[in-house]
Amino acid sequence: MTTLSNSDTAHLRLREQVAACTLLLNAEGLMGYSGHVSSRVPGTDHYFIQPFETSRAGLKPSDLLICDYDGKVVEGPRGTRPPAEVFLHGEILRVRPDVNAVAHFHHDLTNVFTLVEGAKLLPLKNHSIRWVSGMPIHPDPSHVSDSKLGKAVADTLGPHHAMQIRAHGQIITAESVPALLVDCVHFVENAVTMYQASMLGKVMPLTEADIAAFSREFKRVPHVSKLWTYYVGKGRAAGYLPTDWELE
Ligand SMILES: [Zn+2]
Repeated sequence: MTTLSNSDTAHLRLREQVAACTLLLNAEGLMGYSGHVSSRVPGTDHYFIQPFETSRAGLKPSDLLICDYDGKVVEGPRGTRPPAEVFLHGEILRVRPDVNAVAHFHHDLTNVFTLVEGAKLLPLKNHSIRWVSGMPIHPDPSHVSDSKLGKAVADTLGPHHAMQIRAHGQIITAESVPALLVDCVHFVENAVTMYQASMLGKVMPLTEADIAAFSREFKRVPHVSKLWTYYVGKGRAAGYLPTDWELE
């Protein structure tokens, strides 16, 4: 019988989180047939990311590749390759030591805010205080399919925690995979809410006083824990999230 070292166990837990986050984002209608989640391998210049071909609806921890900042595969199942847009993960993780997890997906309704003149996405819902520093829009809608394009995306993101690529999709960054899931959900909730509110009249974004008040009372760690537990439980109850992955 093989005994796992502490770092092997930690890596397995991270693999399970990345696979679970992908399945949950897919089930919530955010991920769809493309998009990917990455997580930094602690203490290295590498990260876990899913292969190009593997279904977002059936991803397993053992499917994941380990890639470097240049998008090259360091370790992974034979015959697999990283997603075409692996470079956005590598270049963001390279320049943002505060970021440990990155998601990229293509949520059409959210992307509407990159397509209409004057329709700027604003923080409306309380949890969108996460993005009060800015939600930049990258002007080049191309697939982020090489390091140069990845660097340009990382430049547009700057110090912020979320961005959109015009006519293309979203990039969300966080300190952990559970926090990433929660931020993805809240980012899309805010966009959908703004879209719906705009049907009724002039939207009213959070004021500076609103932001200050909610920032004072908001506790990110327990909030992330509560929502991660909720979505993991939902996935298990629905049967698509294996019960033997240690996600708590
Ligand atoms: Zn994309």
